[in-house]
Amino acid sequence: MKERQDTIRLILRHTAQIITPPLKYKVKSEIERILQDLVRFEFIKGAKVVWEEPTVYKELGELDAVIKKKEPHKIKKFTIIRGDMDGKIISYQFEDRSGMKATLEVAINDRLYQKIIKNIVVNFAIIGLFSTVLLCVVIYFYYYYIVASILRLVEHIRKIRTEETLKPVVLEKGPKEIIELVQVFNELIENINKYRNHLEKILEQWKSEAVKAKSASQAKTKFLANVSHEIRTPMTAAMGMLEMLKEESSLADKEKLRHLEVALKSLGALIEETLDFAKLEEGKEEIKEETFNITELGKEIHELFEIEAQKKNLVFEVFISLDIPKELRGDISKIRQIIINLISNAIKFTDKGKITLRIFPEKVGEKFIWLHFEVKDTGCGIPPSELEKIFNPYERLEDLYNKPYPGTGLGLAISKRLAELLGGKLWAESEGLGRGAIFHLLIPLKRAESDSPIQKTPPKKLKGKVLLAEDNPVNQLYFKRVLEKLGLNVEVASDGLEALNVINEKHFDLIILDIRMPGLSGLEIVKRIRKKGISIPIIALTAHSVSEIEKEALASGFDDFLQKPISREELAQKLAKWLS
Ligand code: ADP
Repeated sequence: MKERQDTIRLILRHTAQIITPPLKYKVKSEIERILQDLVRFEFIKGAKVVWEEPTVYKELGELDAVIKKKEPHKIKKFTIIRGDMDGKIISYQFEDRSGMKATLEVAINDRLYQKIIKNIVVNFAIIGLFSTVLLCVVIYFYYYYIVASILRLVEHIRKIRTEETLKPVVLEKGPKEIIELVQVFNELIENINKYRNHLEKILEQWKSEAVKAKSASQAKTKFLANVSHEIRTPMTAAMGMLEMLKEESSLADKEKLRHLEVALKSLGALIEETLDFAKLEEGKEEIKEETFNITELGKEIHELFEIEAQKKNLVFEVFISLDIPKELRGDISKIRQIIINLISNAIKFTDKGKITLRIFPEKVGEKFIWLHFEVKDTGCGIPPSELEKIFNPYERLEDLYNKPYPGTGLGLAISKRLAELLGGKLWAESEGLGRGAIFHLLIPLKRAESDSPIQKTPPKKLKGKVLLAEDNPVNQLYFKRVLEKLGLNVEVASDGLEALNVINEKHFDLIILDIRMPGLSGLEIVKRIRKKGISIPIIALTAHSVSEIEKEALASGFDDFLQKPISREELAQKLAKWLS
């Protein structure tokens, strides 16, 4: 359209040149012809020319005005129009050499614009229609050729997810890329099937290995139980004999016996620690909850270590926070075991200064309380890099010290496992060698209900008639002596049958039966006694750890257990419970 306008301007300029002479001489017919020629163009609707009176007529007019003394001559304007002057106007002004001014105007034909627009719309419509059809064809092709084959693949994958053996996808038609994808997918399925078979075989192998491992572990447990029994029984006998000898020997011999006692005790500790650790590793240790008084525990620990500390010229102090509830529930024997281990270590690894045990609440809840036990010493200390390692089994820092400290390297490993078993934490702190060490034990405990009783210290003297059935002569002698010293009347049976006969003939207030005896076992005897309706308390004497035989013994009819080796106090405490 711009081009058209430029063309019109060019035509106007050309027309101006040819129209100037007729304008100058006012040749109307020629002017009209020229305008008519313009209108003949398809895109020009009308043409108009406006011009001033040419100079020569102006001058004549002025002359007339002077001669005739008329009014001054006025410049006239002439206009000639051809066609219709509605619509967009393009004008062109020009002037001839004599100064005559004229304007040529044309009205552009709108129909042309409309025609152009119509053409454009029609063209666009045709192109649009064509594009839509093309797009539909492309989409159709895309869907049926590409998407449909992908969907078939997806459907197949969905189906084979639940199948035992994965089947390959069958796809004959489709784009090359999808066919390749399906091929790769089928190779993958083949591999998966191969590995699946392989894994199944491995799993089968593992299962049979696991069965073997389980039976090996059972054999190990059995072996441990046997070792425990075999070692603890002669230990009890030896300790018993030692106690008897100590009472009867001279002062000089007493000193030698004390050395023997120390050696036996450390052998006992080694056996106990090894067995304890093995049991913890087996996951056999159980948590037993009982009500206890934390002040009693503090006192007990103080009494236990006071003399040992004094012997090394060490101060041993126990502080118990007043904010701790008096009665708590938890596995006190395991807590005691950990604290005893920490304090014996503190005394062992400290040559001068002080050992402090502080017990205080860390977090106090409505039903639970977290107790913090802190064992601080001024001993040889631990390099910070070793603070975690010392909790590994058999880890000892012997090389760092310039003097030997006896031990097995199992105490802390056992303590840490016990603390974790109780839901707590055990960790150490030290600024380095020679700077002392602090051990922290954090344990969650329950607040005791007011009706759960605390075990009281038993009376020193007891009364009653007791049957002791034990096959080992040394143990017989030891237990008989101890029981008599407690004020009890004791009868001894050396095997199961003898025990059963005596029970049939006489009345007893309490029976102590060794579980393993030649002839009839303790378990069998109890079953027979209970069958007869005899309900007196019967206590099992065992070298096994109680947890191993507890269920079987309780089911047979035993009331309680005594685990060898057993101290005089423990024995008295247990018997007092049943004889009172
Ligand atoms: P043991 O005491 O039988 O060697 P433990 O497991 O109880 O075994 O301790 C492991 C090691 O941790 C000890 O050998 C010692 O090197 C270090 N250790 C433990 N307690 C202390 C302590 N209070 N001060 C310095 N070192 C300690």
